[in-house]
Amino acid sequence: MGKKSDALARAVEERIRFLSSIGAEFAFRARAERDGKASHLRPLEEAVRRCTLCPLSAGRRQAVPGEGSYDAELMFVGEAPGADEDLQGRPFVGRAGQLLTKIIAAMKYEREQVYITNIVKCRPPENRTPLRPEIEACQPYLLTQIKVIQPRVIVTLGKTAADFFIPSSAGMTSLRGEFHSFESIQVMPTFHPAYVLRNEGDPRIKRLVWDDMRQVMAVLGKK
Ligand code: URA
Ligand code: SF4
Repeated sequence: MGKKSDALARAVEERIRFLSSIGAEFAFRARAERDGKASHLRPLEEAVRRCTLCPLSAGRRQAVPGEGSYDAELMFVGEAPGADEDLQGRPFVGRAGQLLTKIIAAMKYEREQVYITNIVKCRPPENRTPLRPEIEACQPYLLTQIKVIQPRVIVTLGKTAADFFIPSSAGMTSLRGEFHSFESIQVMPTFHPAYVLRNEGDPRIKRLVWDDMRQVMAVLGKK
């Protein structure tokens, strides 16, 4: 640490001592909560990286627990890591991920301010849809991430993620466009960015995703 940061650390320490002396616990609550979240989520991420609870562990290079802010008010949930994610150990870093990053920016968030994860944390062979027993084996991780982070809104990307929160035989076209509720969190299902890319010739799909994201922004007070 340089001189400047030493001085800063001392100033912060002094400030903390002062606040304690006047009994201002509120000053620490936010930080304690953040540390509390990390104390749950870091070990969870480690457990995911070592997990062998389902057969997907056999075919992965790296598990992908998820990333972003532990205090995110907005969470995105995709289906499963693809090839790029499996190589890097990070969610949504391939082509679909680049589109998701653009969507997040259009919603006036930094990627680091939201939390991004998937229904299953390991890449299925040939990117097939995860099977029910794989989803069931993996679900405690996602449920814990949601419980600890407590986002105000969850955006589900594609049918697999929508089904997790809103079990229904309905297709994406009828599911999207309105909020559903999951344990008092508002869930907005929308199309998967990979689907948007596969249908780049059809601008209506992009339009619908944007309609959905505008509704999310309204709920979160983003204009
Ligand atoms: N598709 C997904 O569903 N998740 C990722 O992380 C990447 C691509
Ligand atoms: Fe474990 Fe989930 Fe990976 Fe299966 S997909 S091995 S349950 S982390």
